[in-house]
Amino acid sequence: MYDPKQIIEDDKSFVWHPYSSTHNPTDNYPVVSANGVRLQLADGRQLIDGMASWWSAIHGYNHPTLNQAVNKQIEDMSHVMFGGLTHPQAVSLCKTLVEITPKDLDKVFLADSGSVSVEVAIKMALQYWLSQGIKSKTKLLSLRNGYHGDTFGAMSLCDPITGMHHLFEHSMPQHLFAEAPTMGFDTAFDERHIADLKRQLSEQHQQIAAVIVEPIVQGAGGMRFYSPDYLKRIRELCDEFNVLLIADEIATGFGRTGKLFACEHANISPDILCLGKAITGGYMTLAATLCSNKVARGICDGEAGVLMHGPTFMGNPLACAVANASIQLLLDSPWQQTIKRIEQQLLRELSPAKALTQVDSVRVLGAIGVIEMKEAVVMTELTPKFVDAGIWVRPFGKLIYIMPPYIISSEDLSLLTSRLVNVITTS
Ligand SMILES: *Cc1c(COP(=O)(O)O)cnc(C)c1O
Repeated sequence: MYDPKQIIEDDKSFVWHPYSSTHNPTDNYPVVSANGVRLQLADGRQLIDGMASWWSAIHGYNHPTLNQAVNKQIEDMSHVMFGGLTHPQAVSLCKTLVEITPKDLDKVFLADSGSVSVEVAIKMALQYWLSQGIKSKTKLLSLRNGYHGDTFGAMSLCDPITGMHHLFEHSMPQHLFAEAPTMGFDTAFDERHIADLKRQLSEQHQQIAAVIVEPIVQGAGGMRFYSPDYLKRIRELCDEFNVLLIADEIATGFGRTGKLFACEHANISPDILCLGKAITGGYMTLAATLCSNKVARGICDGEAGVLMHGPTFMGNPLACAVANASIQLLLDSPWQQTIKRIEQQLLRELSPAKALTQVDSVRVLGAIGVIEMKEAVVMTELTPKFVDAGIWVRPFGKLIYIMPPYIISSEDLSLLTSRLVNVITTS
């Protein structure tokens, strides 16, 4: 069986984890199975999952319907190349995505991960203008506090201060950044909030191929929520200045904010949409970049005549099969009520933490709960306390946040929030 100590030791010797040092590694907790909202550690402990494995496991772990979808697909075919061949699972998935996403997103390009879907979106935007014979539109305009992924193109659109810009500035594409939205989700929008973005668009639109935003929720760059009116204005300004709009819904997609897609809060459609994370219910890596017929036709009418991209594992049938099953499971469930219930409970149970001296603010939107501390937390000290309390929460910087699987019961959610607040109170 498993020897937890050996796993931890070998893990330290051979394995590189996200954003980690090999010389000064921290202990990672071996997980041997997971069921519902519980992670089973090798040492016998169980943790209630507050992270949904970075937004993705919306139906929890080991879900019978999703398991069945993968098993069935394995019997048929685990993989086949996507150049020159197609298969029912990919076709069905792309059709569904076009149907459920905001209007005018007509074509789907399947990608391997969120970051790759952002790379594809960048490529689409650049190729679109090139195809029109417009060579000056080579830059993207992004927002401060944004996060769009870790590959080079995606990284170049992340917040220039908290992102990796200083480290790679000499080898990274240089893009433009506008001030981040500063109002909250419910705060009244004021035209001044968008003055910087508007100024940059009006002064530099001839260089700008697209604006890229995370709609409504700026995720890994700060877990901040902003007004739908701000997003509406971005759409209007993009139209006014003839610039494409890319919505990165990799984190917000599939119900997390209370709408199926966060763009719906503002009732807008982007020209290009990136999806990932929850698309397979957390089973496999898969992402998608959608675009309008206008963008697709623009690209394909150009000199290249095609979109210049094609990953080896594009449209992997196992991933598509489980994505189809996960989306169906979501749509067949009363997900709006579920998210509302989680939202109200998070508000009720996290808000008391505002009274703590070490807490700066508490905010909740949909199935996302955020406690922002006044000082950055020491993750290596806090994580073991969460684990000892029986919950899995992974803070970063000043942020302690949870976005549990949607299937979490009220009882388990109460355990998660009470233990979370208790650890913060006593730390
Ligand atoms: C996670 C994330 C990405 C990157 O996705 P990966 O699958 O980690 O490559 C991009 N944009 C947003 C908004 C994300 O939350």
